[in-house]
Amino acid sequence: MGYQAATERYDTMLYNRSGKSGLKLPAISLGLWHNFGGINVLENDRAMLHRAFDLGITHFDLANNYGPPAGSAEETFGQIMKKDLLAYRDEMIISTKAGYYMWPGPYGEWGSKKNLIASLDQSLKRLQMDYVDIYYHHRPDPNTPLEETMAALDLIVRQGKALYVGLSNYKPAETRDASKILKRLGTPCLIHQPNYSMMSRWIEDGLQDVLEEEGIGSIVFSPLQGGILTDRYLNGITADSRAGGPSHFLNPDQITEEKLNKVKQLNQMAADRGQKLSQMALAWVLRGGKVTSALIGASKVSQIEDAVNSLKKLSFTEEELSRIDTILNG
Ligand code: NDP
Repeated sequence: MGYQAATERYDTMLYNRSGKSGLKLPAISLGLWHNFGGINVLENDRAMLHRAFDLGITHFDLANNYGPPAGSAEETFGQIMKKDLLAYRDEMIISTKAGYYMWPGPYGEWGSKKNLIASLDQSLKRLQMDYVDIYYHHRPDPNTPLEETMAALDLIVRQGKALYVGLSNYKPAETRDASKILKRLGTPCLIHQPNYSMMSRWIEDGLQDVLEEEGIGSIVFSPLQGGILTDRYLNGITADSRAGGPSHFLNPDQITEEKLNKVKQLNQMAADRGQKLSQMALAWVLRGGKVTSALIGASKVSQIEDAVNSLKKLSFTEEELSRIDTILNG
């Protein structure tokens, strides 16, 4: 018999409303940037997607260029969806993005209408789907009028190829301008996808205020700092880890003694709270309810289980918060 979702899948997950929209997202979402490409083991990817859905993770985040090779994460997800998850399509929120380099020539990246429309058509073919739930502009384009990029997002929704639109990596002022245009067009921005973690706090400096004013939700990527804010590197760099593998986004040079020293102290603090460090790091981004969802990556089923278990303890005392700051600023 094929995959059957767990009947208790909605019993423990928290669902938060994205800004002022009608859409709720799970507090933990799963991103497929790493570990779901053509170079990875399909059966492990299948097991992770099944376990995530069984634990109430209804949101899966993709982009045109995820892999490697670029495009292969969408293909992997499309294959697994078709085989196992199609019956649950209406219980799932699937996102993809365009904006980073995808194909050669002047139309294969950035923010022209040509790029956004062509890229989504390619993504839908790879995903074997008629529509995605959220379509993002992946990064701001300084050389394309914002009006053109936002009009392309609005058109895509009117064509039924996406239900909602989002922005990623936009700075506060760009986000406000884009949001005003989208509201005028009648397709309000659902969500912003920025980087945020204990080690990367730029969104606190203006972006969160804009999101609040504009009624936009937030889904924060790399809340574990790519694995640094976990126990992954406390005993060295293994070949099966991101820093030990072929990824260009985390390399052994970034795992410095100074950082590891701080991570060790944070790890002890998490243990005192009865959590793993990865769980404390996720609780930290979700504290206070400003963030709609923490967008994790995973290479193993157990990492997804760890993430969902972080929801058992989301609160921090003032002393704990200032201790974290002291450790990281030390
Ligand atoms: P994280 O910071 O969550 O890092 C994920 C990595 O941390 C995993 O691959 C794993 O590393 C390690 N890890 C996770 N859980 C545990 C655990 N319990 N114990 C030990 N190690 C653990 O996020 P990512 O950087 O992967 O990004 C998440 C998602 O965010 C992406 O998939 C993508 O959807 C999105 N994203 C968006 C961007 C944008 O520009 N919009 C940019 C970057 C990401 P290992 O593989 O070594 O096991």
